Amino acid sequence: MKKLVILGSTGSIGTQALEVVARSEDLQVVGLAAGRGWETTVEQAREHGVPTIALADPDAAASAREGWSGQVLSGEEGVRELVASSGADLVLNAIVGAAGLGSTVVALTEGIDVALANKESLVVGGELVMALSEATGACLLPVDSEHSALHQLIGSEAPGTVEKLVLTASGGPFRGREDLGDVSVADALAHPTWEMGGRITIDCATLMNKGFEAIEAHHLFGVPYERIGVVVHPQSLIHSLIHLNDGSSLAHLGYPDMRVPISYALHYPERADVDVPQLDLAAAGALTFEAPDLETFACLRLALEAGEAGGTAPCVLNAADEVAVAAFLAGEIPFTGIAAVIERVLAEMPAAPVTHFDDLFATDAEARRRSEDHVRGLTPA
Ligand code: NDP
Repeated sequence: MKKLVILGSTGSIGTQALEVVARSEDLQVVGLAAGRGWETTVEQAREHGVPTIALADPDAAASAREGWSGQVLSGEEGVRELVASSGADLVLNAIVGAAGLGSTVVALTEGIDVALANKESLVVGGELVMALSEATGACLLPVDSEHSALHQLIGSEAPGTVEKLVLTASGGPFRGREDLGDVSVADALAHPTWEMGGRITIDCATLMNKGFEAIEAHHLFGVPYERIGVVVHPQSLIHSLIHLNDGSSLAHLGYPDMRVPISYALHYPERADVDVPQLDLAAAGALTFEAPDLETFACLRLALEAGEAGGTAPCVLNAADEVAVAAFLAGEIPFTGIAAVIERVLAEMPAAPVTHFDDLFATDAEARRRSEDHVRGLTPA
């Protein structure tokens, strides 16, 4: 029985992970953590017989203590304490945003394997996180569907045979459009193929998410950016592909359902049944592909540039994106303002080397402050 802690249990990935756990005889949840959603977390703990929960928001933790007799840890440090003290074999990190980095660091430091949905851990701290994983021997198992696909494709290949990784992108709700000046929050949240949390849904609409994924792939698989490509594939049936040195290309296919990569990461190296239909290619019909439009979707260009620049640049990119996406969702800036804010903050904060996690926390705070200033500049009076 694998002991599992789920961080971000109330979110899109967290709730689907609990569905996977409910069907599995090999997984036992020993801890749950969320931000504010204490009622859902307590309900989940009762349902899955979980002894300890943590809530990053201290008020939510106080409410949970009144409503439940189990152990409740409080604050960001409570989430990290849960990871360190749970006795888990595996931590699923499905916290949204840079807030997830600290928990990844604690898990790896403790030698606990991490099923990583929180791509920001690698976008923000890729070099240090990979070095930590190497030093402690704790593994990072990707949950992102594209990286799960790549993990499966690369796994069977001899070193030196993989020439290129290609990430597929649905293209989001605005694929093919050239003017995004007037898109509404509701339009941007209407993703054509995947159902996800709010922030990643907007990141898919701007294609920032694909840029984050290129940075994630660069660190996870140790592949330089010139050997990582992106292709738009609106049907989202091919999750990624690899090109090999003998002219072969291998692809990973399946219906877009996050329970598949979640189950893969949680059960690895085994596989478990997932309640999804088998792929019917004749019913699916044509699979189409196109190059991404880096001019209209400037966020993808900015992310690839920040990845190449390295150092603090991806941390700045992520912080500015978190602030700008929140401002867009709050109706404070237009959709095109997201890329504008990020581009300005990246220009103001050139890439600097990173030697310690504290460098990243300081950079994150500074980039957020500058992003908020730019948001105010774009907000109509
Ligand atoms: P959601 O917004 O649906 O959920 C986020 C979760 O994080 C919630 O449980 C939230 O709790 C919790 N949370 C927020 N802040 C903290 C904190 N400081 N400490 C502990 N928990 C916190 O996001 P998603 O599930 O969509 O995404 C989670 C991560 O997985 C992201 O990094 C995303 O990029 C990645 N991912 C998601 C995919 C998807 O299909 N959704 C696909 C691939 C990757 P609460 O709401 O209770 O405050």
